[in-house]
Amino acid sequence: MAGEPQADCLFCKIVSGDVPATVVRETGTTVAFRDINPQAPTHVLVIPKVHYPDAATLAAAQPGVAADILREAGAVAADEKVDGTGFRIVFNTGTGAGQTVFHAHAHVLGGRGLEWPPG
Ligand code: 5GP
Ligand code: ZN
Repeated sequence: MAGEPQADCLFCKIVSGDVPATVVRETGTTVAFRDINPQAPTHVLVIPKVHYPDAATLAAAQPGVAADILREAGAVAADEKVDGTGFRIVFNTGTGAGQTVFHAHAHVLGGRGLEWPPG
């Protein structure tokens, strides 16, 4: 069924606790944890507990949960005190855009200057 946990999915295993992560926030529908290979002083991933391969697919199927991701991304930025200086929410979508984990996730990046456009 759509949204069900996938046995071979790393982020489903983080949701279930089978793979450890440094969790900074959790709600009924989302988990936020530090990226294992941070690209900025603040680099947190916000993921839905349900499994969808990317953010757009999640938003089409469960728009309320997609909104939860955005709200939690903002809460992470406030917790990390990067909301004042600015932060970026990134959804890499597809291999050509750098997506490597096919469970929807927002990157929350901040704490340094962020160039535009990104590479
Ligand atoms: P993507 O490249 O799909 O947009 O982002 C996947 C992110 O997951 C990468 O930034 C990568 O560093 C992070 N990542 C991969 N494996 C793990 C892991 O086991 N734990 C954590 N916390 N982050 C991971
Ligand atoms: Zn998953």
